[in-house]
Amino acid sequence: MPIDATQPYDDSNIFARILRGEIPSKTVYEDEYALAFHDINPLSPAHILVIPKGSYVSWDDFSATASDAEIAGFVRAVGKVARDCGLVEPGYRLLANAGLNSGQEVPHLHVHIFGGRPLGPMLSS
Ligand code: AMP
Repeated sequence: MPIDATQPYDDSNIFARILRGEIPSKTVYEDEYALAFHDINPLSPAHILVIPKGSYVSWDDFSATASDAEIAGFVRAVGKVARDCGLVEPGYRLLANAGLNSGQEVPHLHVHIFGGRPLGPMLSS
């Protein structure tokens, strides 16, 4: 079910549980501001999710309320993960679903990193 990006943060969401270590994930990178792990249902050879450590429902919530340090730390982490995974030279795509029309399912901000093959058109429909 797509989530409403304006809903309050729900601490029981699956990525909050991954952050608390209650559910395993295949970690790619971790620092003070971000955790990156492999998507459980990869849509491309490289499909990594990067999430902020803070409790933010969506890009809207994060961009409006996170501190400058959290925003800088998170954006740098996304770039570092792509770089460290060798995706810069072949190219990659970032995607962050936000709210109902996007189909966002997990109510904790996540940026998808897709790569490892030509990714086709931006939207399928
Ligand atoms: P979105 O539709 O943008 O909210 O994307 C949610 C993503 O989370 C999907 O690509 C799922 O495959 C992925 N996902 C859901 N549960 C897990 C999990 N436990 N570990 C890793 N990825 C997950």
